[in-house]
Amino acid sequence: MIHRKSAAQIECLRTCGQIVFAVQQKVEALIAPGVSTRQLDAVAEAAIIEAGARPAFKGYHGFPASICASTNASIVHGFPTDTPLADGDIVSIDVGVVVDGYFGDGAFTVGVGTISSAALDLIDTTRRCLELGIEQMRVDGRLGDISHAIQTHAEAAGYSIVREYGGHGIGRALHESPHINNYGSPGKGPRLKPGHVFCIEPILSMGSPEVEHDDDGWTVQTRDRSLTAHCEHTVALTENGAEILTLPAVLSA
Ligand code: MG
Repeated sequence: MIHRKSAAQIECLRTCGQIVFAVQQKVEALIAPGVSTRQLDAVAEAAIIEAGARPAFKGYHGFPASICASTNASIVHGFPTDTPLADGDIVSIDVGVVVDGYFGDGAFTVGVGTISSAALDLIDTTRRCLELGIEQMRVDGRLGDISHAIQTHAEAAGYSIVREYGGHGIGRALHESPHINNYGSPGKGPRLKPGHVFCIEPILSMGSPEVEHDDDGWTVQTRDRSLTAHCEHTVALTENGAEILTLPAVLSA
């Protein structure tokens, strides 16, 4: 059962999404060689609280921080650490917030300093997969259309889809039904309806899609240590089409 949100609920989720975007902007501006992801976490947490929200990830199943920071071969759920980011790294930052019981969730991957053209292409392709997935979020489309658009573009560009993770519904919980695979068949799955609010989040690997869990119980890396990129928007479907809640309205149109 996929919950359909009212216009009033979508307004609450929009508020959350706008805070996610503002926090991401603050964090992204600080990303540079020598900066640690723990410093980024502190800035994000302060910005979330200043905005009148709470960090959604902190304490979620015991997660210790306000952002997930996953570098290079780390796929998702990385802990912020004191290790300084290095020139040539790529880092994904995932931000989640709660306001009045509603959630917002968004992630981006960027390069640190100067990165290889291969890493840049991986990031650009992941972003494009996200855009193409969002384009499939249309009334009476199918969930599988989103999955298929992401998979097709990623694989055509020579990347693999990390299959263990995917998108999800969002609302009064961080993770609601449905789970949204980043691979699948068009024309399959539930029909998309006004009021559906989904986090769409492609995760691409430059090499093998196989994953390995770190001893911390959270960080997930590619087994072959190939680079991965991850990006995510919270997107609401209304009668007027898809609206990206984690972008300012002027950029979402
Ligand atoms: Mg998510």
